[in-house]
Amino acid sequence: MANPPKPWKAEYAKSARSSCKSCKNTIDKENLRLGKMVQATQFDGFMPMWNHAGCILKKANQIKSLDDVEGIELLRWEDQQKIRKYVEGGGPQNTPSPVVMECGIEVSQTSRAACRRCNQKVMKGEVRISTKPEGQGARGLAWHHANCFMELSPTTQVEKLSGWDSLSASDQLAVRALVKKVPSSSKGGTKVELQEEDKESLQQSTLKGGAKRKRAVSGDQKSKLSRSEENSNLLGNEHPKSSDLESLLEAQTKELWALKDDLKKKVTTAELREMLEANSQDSTGSELDLRDRW
Ligand SMILES: [Zn+2]
Ligand SMILES: [Zn+2]
Repeated sequence: MANPPKPWKAEYAKSARSSCKSCKNTIDKENLRLGKMVQATQFDGFMPMWNHAGCILKKANQIKSLDDVEGIELLRWEDQQKIRKYVEGGGPQNTPSPVVMECGIEVSQTSRAACRRCNQKVMKGEVRISTKPEGQGARGLAWHHANCFMELSPTTQVEKLSGWDSLSASDQLAVRALVKKVPSSSKGGTKVELQEEDKESLQQSTLKGGAKRKRAVSGDQKSKLSRSEENSNLLGNEHPKSSDLESLLEAQTKELWALKDDLKKKVTTAELREMLEANSQDSTGSELDLRDRW
């Protein structure tokens, strides 16, 4: 290998054989994965340590620059934007709920504690969730009914609460059921950001063209400002705006993926192989490889 590769590699998983180095779960086929390139021990070269893209993008200080990501231009536009936002924002866009580690869950041994939310007693035998206000010991614990707590903090990952493992299977089931009741639109992120995203995806599904342009512009407003200042100093205002380039790129990427998705719907892998063979092209490799070659 002549040149060391870029520090990161982005692609859609070609199989479901890799597992995430962050969360240890399987990376499903065609899920977006980000590989951190490391020196291989088995051979002379580099190999990617795969992670769910989401697992990397919720951690700080991972990807420093878009130039560090091999293959980013081949991703779906939405996925490119996720990585762009991460790099430009200097870290995760949704700060994870800070309460998780300071919470505990248990079956109440007494009927003494009152729920902080509804002020009713948490009865003996009921599942309750505690929060620990910062800097206080066990005496400062605030108790909640499990369902009251989930209404307060719907993003809670109950499995990560301390004491989760000591709950009985049926209690775990009951608490998990509370999580599912929470509408998915209210999870993660700051409210304002999320509402914007919701609006965007709504617009995209109803009136495609308009929303597209709007997003490219609003996403680029800051850099456009400073750049157009430069432009007017050096080149006058005739110079093409970067947002125009970006929306062009966006349109191209989306068109390409629409074609790929369309192809996938209509043509099976076997048929694809045949077609490539008929054109005496290489028909070996995974399904995704084939589609790239198409
Ligand atoms: Zn993961
Ligand atoms: Zn309550």
